[in-house]
Amino acid sequence: MAVSASGLAAELSSLEASDSVLQEVATRVKRAIKDLGVDKDVPGLQIYFVDFAKAPLGPNRPIYYTDSCLSVLPSIVVVNAQFMFETEAAIRAFGLFDELANTPYLRNDACMFGLVKRVTEGGKLWLEMLRKFEEGKQSAERFATDALMMTILFFCAHEVGHLKDGVNIARYTSFLDPTKPLEARLANAAMKLRRHASEFGKYGFDLPGWQAAVDPGEKVFASAQRLGATIAAEDKINAEWFEKEKSADDAAVQLIIRYLSSQSGKYRGLLVRGLFAVSLYAWYKDLLAFCIRLNVPRHGPKPALSFELMRNPQAYIAAASLFGDVHRSTIFRSAVGIQAILGGAEHEDAVGAKSNTSDSLRARAMLLWQKLFKTEKSASESDDAQWKYQSAQRHVLLAIHMDTVVKFAYVGASMPFIREAEDKHGAPKVLIINFEGIDESLARLQRLWTSQDTRANV
Ligand SMILES: [Zn+2]
Repeated sequence: MAVSASGLAAELSSLEASDSVLQEVATRVKRAIKDLGVDKDVPGLQIYFVDFAKAPLGPNRPIYYTDSCLSVLPSIVVVNAQFMFETEAAIRAFGLFDELANTPYLRNDACMFGLVKRVTEGGKLWLEMLRKFEEGKQSAERFATDALMMTILFFCAHEVGHLKDGVNIARYTSFLDPTKPLEARLANAAMKLRRHASEFGKYGFDLPGWQAAVDPGEKVFASAQRLGATIAAEDKINAEWFEKEKSADDAAVQLIIRYLSSQSGKYRGLLVRGLFAVSLYAWYKDLLAFCIRLNVPRHGPKPALSFELMRNPQAYIAAASLFGDVHRSTIFRSAVGIQAILGGAEHEDAVGAKSNTSDSLRARAMLLWQKLFKTEKSASESDDAQWKYQSAQRHVLLAIHMDTVVKFAYVGASMPFIREAEDKHGAPKVLIINFEGIDESLARLQRLWTSQDTRANV
């Protein structure tokens, strides 16, 4: 049965979550959206923070169900309260540690998986405990709610982007559903992963030796193209959705930069903290679900992905499930978003995309951070230096930790060619690819940091 717009608004109002922190954040997000004048683009915009535990139970989920955030035309944004609690828990957990290098979750992949389990299994109790840590602190030290507000504002801005584009029932993200089968169709996986690999290439993320996957003049590209033709109609729809997601991401960045222009610099740092925590958390949540589904063994604290994928190359096809339905990867969109946010208004027209230079995103991150530390001399320099230092580190660590995402995308996009070659020679190819754990990425960050001697400027 179709629900009228006013009926839907009334139903969503009755489901609004009652948690006090959530309500405080919700009020501030709605006020910020109003102050930004978004009403002009999306008249009558309403944002609902929904507790789906209150939703009517039935064989089908309501059309407005989302496990993150959702746009409903003409003017509704829905935020799942549970998603907001997980976001808050991730931000608060990381927020306990001022110095990134001393964050225990970054010790190794097992610690990141431990954080995911604590948040998902500990639920509200664990979150309440994290909230207590901030109680009684001076206001300047109480930043988790501000960081959460900025992060949720960013997610809502993505949905506003969808509404402006006239896109109905579009989500901020989609998580790997542990109860659903992993991707098993080579054609779909290859086309999807090539879309990601091509975009990574544009932003300076490539995989040496695997460029043929994204080069239309190469046989590897042609193999995927031939196979993709068998699902042309479906792939066209997926490609269009991917563009809609990129457009909403760009809109979110533009809107948030506009918001930040009237705030003190500290708020840029808080948003970076939020996006860093939540994107790393979301990536590891999906990676854990993937490893459990594939029974990937542990090698010490690290999942033995290299071994498992060498033994079972089919897993490169299954890995397409880690990239959601039509979204860009969480780590990538955060790294690119942060790049634009730190760049400030002068980067508005280049939301991080590579220009005609051959710089990698890492190289541009280093340039950006040198600029951050060498300009804007002011009386509040020490405060400024602190958030810039924290932000730059997080930005570069995300860029470095794109390693696994990039490898999955390029190798997966090459699988049709590899399969053809195997059929021709009658023997399986052995692919040995090393996947980097979070501790290895952190070590690379520290080496880079030391070599740039950036701290001398702080
Ligand atoms: Zn979206």
